[in-house]
Amino acid sequence: MATRKKIVKTCPSCGAFFNAEAYEVINATLDTALRDEVIWGRIFDFTCPSCTHHFRSPYSMAYKEMEKEYIIFLELDEDARDEDERISKSRITGDQIAETRELFPTYRIRVVHDMMDLIEKIHIFSAGLNDKIVTYLGYKIKDDVTVKMKNAKPPIRVYKALFDSLKGKAGELNFGLLSSSPKPIFVTTPTRDYEYLLKKSPLRQQFDEAEGLYQIDEGWAAGIDKVLIA
Ligand SMILES: [Zn+2]
Repeated sequence: MATRKKIVKTCPSCGAFFNAEAYEVINATLDTALRDEVIWGRIFDFTCPSCTHHFRSPYSMAYKEMEKEYIIFLELDEDARDEDERISKSRITGDQIAETRELFPTYRIRVVHDMMDLIEKIHIFSAGLNDKIVTYLGYKIKDDVTVKMKNAKPPIRVYKALFDSLKGKAGELNFGLLSSSPKPIFVTTPTRDYEYLLKKSPLRQQFDEAEGLYQIDEGWAAGIDKVLIA
């Protein structure tokens, strides 16, 4: 089940404006086929009615799973035309967060600003993992690989390490790196690292659910690291 909205898109090929159907809120528990459409990014695909050009263009929306009790707001600046619209957009997200907290007090609430981050969160929550720990691990992997790749020729820049899946038997967490390398780079980290952060690390309280903290990303992970050093 999903609620829809009408949005205006601009064709990147011919420049035509056109009205398109988009999703406002997706409830993936009631519609698992739609979940796959989100995972593959296909809900953000459009076809220009003037020149039939196909293109991907993410827009702001919300993704919810009742069974796993979470909601993720994808909030994008790109579809705001000016500063006023950008402010009104974050106010809408604020209102939706307040409403969610009232109706579903046990839900984890997250706000992301990128399609890849939305997809990563869905993978993390589907695997039943704590997204704070996984985000922190991804941040450390990025750091680690960045140092190692500095001397590669040509040097490889790592933009982000995104959680991909769990390797059940091997007890590993898989990450895919977004980087300047033409070949995809995958990194695995043992599940015991995750367990350590969850149970024993001096940081472990940072990974508890905290009220009002909805943006769990690289910036947040860097802040955690500072706490440890201090
Ligand atoms: Zn077109």
